[in-house]
Amino acid sequence: MTRYLVLLGPPGVGKGTQAKIISERTGLAHISSGDLFRENLKNQTELGKLAQTYMSRGELVPDDVTIGMIRERLSRPDCKAGAILDGFPRTPTQADALEAMLDEFNGHVDAAPFITGDEDVLVERLGDRWTCRANGHIYNQKSNPPREPGICDFDGSELYQREDDKPETVKRRIHVYLEQTSPLIDYYRRRGKLIEIDGMQTIEQVTQALVSALDIQSSL
Ligand code: AMP
Repeated sequence: MTRYLVLLGPPGVGKGTQAKIISERTGLAHISSGDLFRENLKNQTELGKLAQTYMSRGELVPDDVTIGMIRERLSRPDCKAGAILDGFPRTPTQADALEAMLDEFNGHVDAAPFITGDEDVLVERLGDRWTCRANGHIYNQKSNPPREPGICDFDGSELYQREDDKPETVKRRIHVYLEQTSPLIDYYRRRGKLIEIDGMQTIEQVTQALVSALDIQSSL
C-alpha cells in the first residue's frame, strides 16, 4: 500500500527523530527537506549555496526551489511504497504543490501527524541538540545522549551543532513557523488528515502514540 505521511510541528519537537524511527519500522522513505538542503550545501551545489542564505537566517527557502527539490526526491524508486515527509510542506503553496505531485504519482496524503510542544522547551532542546554529519541522526545532550560523546551510535560519524540551532536563529525559526507553517494545521484538519500527538513525552511514548494513531503495528 502506498502511504504518504506529512509530519507537522514546530522546530525541535522531534519530527526528524520520529520520522527516522517510523521509516525504519515501516520501510517508508524518510524525506527531510532540511537534510536535503544540508546535503546540497555539503556538496556545494548551486541549490545548497542558495538555500544557505535563507537557512542561516532561519528563513524559509523560496517555494519554487523547495518544491522542485522535493518533486525530484519523490520520483526516486525508494518512494514507490510511499514516504514520510519531515519539514515539507511548510507553506500552503507547498501543500497544494504536494497534492498535485501526489496526484501524478497516484497517491495522496494519508495522514498529517501534528507533534505539539511548548516554545520554551523547544528553544532549550535545540540548544542541546547534536546532529550526525553523515546521516542526520539526532541526539540531545541531556535527554538522548550518544553512547560516546561526539560520535554517532549508528554510523560512527562526527556529531556537530547546527548553525541555525543558536538561540537567536531558533527564535526566528519558531516565529517563521508560527507565521508561515502553522496555517497547515487547519489545512490538514479541514481535510480530515490531522492527528494531534503530544511531543512533550519521551521519544518512546511519542513513537508509541504515532504507531497506534497511524495503525502501523502490522508493519513492525
Ligand atoms: P529543518 O532541518 O527542517 O529544521 O530545516 C532547516 C532549514 O531549511 C529551515 O529553517 C529552512 O531554512 C530550510 N527548509 C527546510 N524545509 C523547508 C521547506 N519546506 N520550505 C522552505 N525552507 C525549508
